[in-house]
Amino acid sequence: MSARSTSTQAGDVARADVAVVGAGPIGLAVAWRCAARGLRVTVHDPAPGSGASAVAAGMLAPVSEAYFGERELTGLLVESAARWPAFAAELTEASGVELGYRTEGTLLVGLTADDLAEARRLWAYQQEIGLPVTPLRPSELRDREPALAPRVRGGAFAATDHQVDPRLLLPALRIAAERAGAVLVPGPVRTLADLDAAVTVVAAGCGAAALTGLPVRPVKGQVLRLRAPGGATPGFRHVIRGYADGESVYLVPRSGGEVVVGATVEERRDTDVSAGAVLRLLRAAVDVLPELAEYDLVETAAGLRPGTPDNAPILGPLPGRPGVLAATGHHRHGIVLTPVTADLIADLVTTGRPDPLLAPFRPDRFTGPAAPDSAGSDPTAPATGAAAADAVPAAGGAGVSAAGDDDVAARTSEEDPWN
Ligand SMILES: Cc1cc2nc3c(=O)[nH]c(=O)nc-3n(C[C@H](O)[C@H](O)[C@H](O)COP(=O)(O)OP(=O)(O)OC[C@H]3O[C@@H](n4cnc5c(N)ncnc54)[C@H](O)[C@@H]3O)c2cc1C
Repeated sequence: MSARSTSTQAGDVARADVAVVGAGPIGLAVAWRCAARGLRVTVHDPAPGSGASAVAAGMLAPVSEAYFGERELTGLLVESAARWPAFAAELTEASGVELGYRTEGTLLVGLTADDLAEARRLWAYQQEIGLPVTPLRPSELRDREPALAPRVRGGAFAATDHQVDPRLLLPALRIAAERAGAVLVPGPVRTLADLDAAVTVVAAGCGAAALTGLPVRPVKGQVLRLRAPGGATPGFRHVIRGYADGESVYLVPRSGGEVVVGATVEERRDTDVSAGAVLRLLRAAVDVLPELAEYDLVETAAGLRPGTPDNAPILGPLPGRPGVLAATGHHRHGIVLTPVTADLIADLVTTGRPDPLLAPFRPDRFTGPAAPDSAGSDPTAPATGAAAADAVPAAGGAGVSAAGDDDVAARTSEEDPWN
């Protein structure tokens, strides 16, 4: 398909088949997939790529992110991670941008007996549900990463937990979407009623709550970026996730010399960086990998993850709002979940039929049963009822329905800084 004009004002845009709200990884990937199928796509965002992805570490970690009570989410993470190799190759081909996609795997390490006891409990669970996590002796850990601190007492290897650089991914997605014909509209969407499209996909991260009434809340994450002296390659190759004297920390090495150190998990909506968080992250990082004390501290930042009550994304037709699809609430997993979200939402847009994979993540798991007269109601009103079958009218045409899911208690806490 030939490229069209790629950036414009809202008023210049003819009626689109699909209007995507939000140009983060989710919105851009959905736009790319839809445009590549020949649909006329607009993407609305005042500041593309400025959301959570601007600070994200880019771990693709279905195994080390598999937590108790999140089986369905884990299934989706595994599915999406499996799509990453082909997705990365296709995206690089379409955009000409290398993504920093790396497959060395992830080392999971603990310093103290208590740290290891906590970690081993989780590894046992992950093995129990069939995920590939392999315990390693300290000598085996050091064979893989000689730079680990002598205090590291044990660990494990998650071979399938990879990484990508979100600061390369976002430009790549934007180029690919625009080359496929998607049109970037540089402005905020204040109400969905302002959009003139057959189907609207709300992929606005934390901004989705105000547009839809869905329970998406900001979950703050503070993160640091270090640089190896003289721009050298970091002295370790794997992503390292450490339990360090009761603190959790991850270290993500990039080929260009950068190391991402993260992250806090805070129920706050500001993006201030606190001295205490920097101190805790640095101390844990250096405890795990002492050479980091010699690195330059080049950036401190905070971002807002789009969290949901059960930590899982919200994907599918918005109850009582015909033609509106949600693709939001990706919380700690929006980078790893980009391929599967884009594929499933583009399929839904074009066929009108939800893939069974979407069933546990449908929006009406939070909004309850349908109000009989909700279809056709004011599309800008907060979603309070759920339609059993919500239409996706023009681009797909067919009716949409999916099975429901139960609630899972929220797992976020200040003590859990993964991601
Ligand atoms: C510190 C930190 C570390 C992380 N690490 C990882 C990781 O290692 N692996 C992983 O998979 N995930 C990670 N994440 C999570 C990941 O970044 C998010 O899940 C992901 O960015 C969500 O993508 P998104 O496109 O839905 O939202 P965002 O990336 O937040 O983008 C939303 C976009 O919508 C736009 N927008 C908002 N409101 C409106 C509106 N009204 N009109 C128009 N546009 C609007 C914004 O400008 C923004 O560009 C991390 C997040 C943080 C904060």
